[in-house]
Amino acid sequence: MAKRAALVTGGSGGIGLAIARRLAESGYAVTISGRREEKLLKAAESLADDDLKVEAVVADVTSEEAVVELVAEHKRQWGRLDCLVNNAGIGIGQPVEGIRAKHFDLQVAVNLRALVVATREALPLLKTAGAEHGKALIVNLASIAGVQSPPWLSIYGATKAAVIGFSKSTQKEVGEAGIAVTAIAPGFVATEMTEFVQGEIPPEKMMRPEDIAEAVSFLLAVSPNCAIPELVMARPGSGPDSGGM
Ligand code: NAD
Repeated sequence: MAKRAALVTGGSGGIGLAIARRLAESGYAVTISGRREEKLLKAAESLADDDLKVEAVVADVTSEEAVVELVAEHKRQWGRLDCLVNNAGIGIGQPVEGIRAKHFDLQVAVNLRALVVATREALPLLKTAGAEHGKALIVNLASIAGVQSPPWLSIYGATKAAVIGFSKSTQKEVGEAGIAVTAIAPGFVATEMTEFVQGEIPPEKMMRPEDIAEAVSFLLAVSPNCAIPELVMARPGSGPDSGGM
């Protein structure tokens, strides 16, 4: 059995891959999951090439069964879970009059329901880890959109506000079991997700995926007596022109 293990959803690129790399470099055996097999396997290879312990599991998190099976496969592979990173997410910008039910459903399914199902499924393993060392961790990727409620991203922002609420409730339920829960709420990070806006805000003015990985290291480093329910990470100077993003 691995000494420490982590599961990162949406780990094939962007923020998820940066967090997975950081955890693996800190000694965690890591499961990464993603939808697109080719991209996921390439990401896993990039970690394995550096002698890091990684398993890749293809999973579309809009399927409850796929998420249940993902956690079960992680357990079969590594035997334990110390850190769950609910990172998979999708953002669809549209004006309120243009909201389509299928885009609403997709964002709720990926950003919120999948995270709830993964948390439910992972809790028995996290409780075992929490009882062992008092410092199991759930990291939920919210967004500053869940705090600032920018225009054109109303549904995305609403799902991320719900992620922050769910994280706080979970923290209150499981904190005594040695499990910390944090919703990280970043502004614009230079990844595929923000390509749509990189014409107006150049990637060099955005946060780096590694900044979020650094935050996860920080969350792991603080003592079990320090709860951080919400961590907002803003770009300096981000103002009303970018909806606070
Ligand atoms: P990204 O588009 O590079 O990564 C998103 C990941 O989610 C990908 O790995 C993708 O495969 C996965 N994903 C999406 N739909 C999925 C599905 N149905 N099944 C399985 N996996 C699915 O974006 P990113 O910027 O790395 O975003 C990671 C997280 O951070 C997301 O939750 C996002 O909302 C959040 N976030 C991003 C930013 C930003 O500016 N980039 C800011 C705040 C929060």
